[in-house]
Amino acid sequence: MVQALTLRLRPNADRRLRIGHLWVFANEVDVQRTPLTAFEPGALARLEDARGKPLGQVYVNPASLICARVLTRNAKARIDQAWFAERIRQAAQLRERVYPGGFYRLLFGESDGVPGLVVDRYGDVLVAQSTTAGIDARRDDVEAALRETLNPTGIYWRCDAPVRALEGLEPMTSEWGSVPDEIEVPESERRFVVALKSGQKTGWYFDQRDNRALIAQLARGQRVLDVFSYVGGFGVTAACAGAASVTCLDASESALAQAQANAARNGVSVDVLAGDARTSLQQLADARTKFDLVIVDPPALIKRKKDIAAGTRHYQQLNALAMRLLTPGGLLLAASCSHHLSADAMRGALRKAASEAGRRPMILAQRGAALDHPVHPAIPETEYLKAFLCAVEG
Ligand code: SAH
Repeated sequence: MVQALTLRLRPNADRRLRIGHLWVFANEVDVQRTPLTAFEPGALARLEDARGKPLGQVYVNPASLICARVLTRNAKARIDQAWFAERIRQAAQLRERVYPGGFYRLLFGESDGVPGLVVDRYGDVLVAQSTTAGIDARRDDVEAALRETLNPTGIYWRCDAPVRALEGLEPMTSEWGSVPDEIEVPESERRFVVALKSGQKTGWYFDQRDNRALIAQLARGQRVLDVFSYVGGFGVTAACAGAASVTCLDASESALAQAQANAARNGVSVDVLAGDARTSLQQLADARTKFDLVIVDPPALIKRKKDIAAGTRHYQQLNALAMRLLTPGGLLLAASCSHHLSADAMRGALRKAASEAGRRPMILAQRGAALDHPVHPAIPETEYLKAFLCAVEG
């Protein structure tokens, strides 16, 4: 059935959408003509500009500031299992081209034309996240489409991201088929075991894959510190590449235990240090401990716009401490996954960190997320991950 409801925009509110953006904000709707209160959360609607010209189809959530997201520019398409299956096939084809073998972020929301839906593929097991009412309402179609296209043995819906609250949604999980608690993820010649159900986010950070490969290139013979190591993605990679020593630092004891297990699985070993990053880095600096290569990959430190100033300062402090630990000419990989921190702002934070540490940094490379996290050119939020590789002189 084609949707019966219409959402009409105010004059000029179509501009951003016409150049490719997919979001409609609540203040852009002509609520006189099409009151948002008429929509159930997740309802499908025809989107039109202020003059009534069709712009495509959206799903609507009157409870959210982003009150509608475009699913298709085609006003007549049916949004059903077959429609999702087509998007999934396209996404899978791209992923298999860039990272063949079935382990990757299969769908990256808006970037893949499926706003609000993220799916990670671990071989035969899929971990799906819905962050919107529009996707929640279509979970059956999505699940059926995933089964139709990929024939998985299990699908785990892990819908517990805090952003769900912005849509008025509770956290939820559900399971189809059989989903193991743990799964082995191959990456290059390395193997990592991750907890799908109890681990963080969807289990494994696929987005840092190429940056881990960069660390593999640089780690031979180095004393390496992996700050915010989680289950040892960077640290174990460095150890496998012949690092002289590796220390994984994280606040989570269970992540560190998993990092050691992952090291053992790959025939190497890592030291672990449990604690708050800033405090532990300060202690290492006070003890004049030195490293040749430090990775700083914190969780998003800026979750909301109003945290930008404090969060930027936090990035600066962490990287200043990391620089103090580096031998002259040592290497720092400084990452941020906060989309609120622009690349320019992060460069500024690194510059200030260096002057705080009394060091001279050189940026060797500025990198982003791996190829399975495409950036939507009209939606800056999809370009969230930044990673700067710096050489830090004395
Ligand atoms: N570098 C990892 C991903 C890091 S995820 C990879 O490539 O896989 C962020 C990690 O930071 C989590 O493991 C979390 O436990 C840890 N963390 C969060 N707050 C922390 C804090 N204050 N101090 C130390 N670790 C912290």
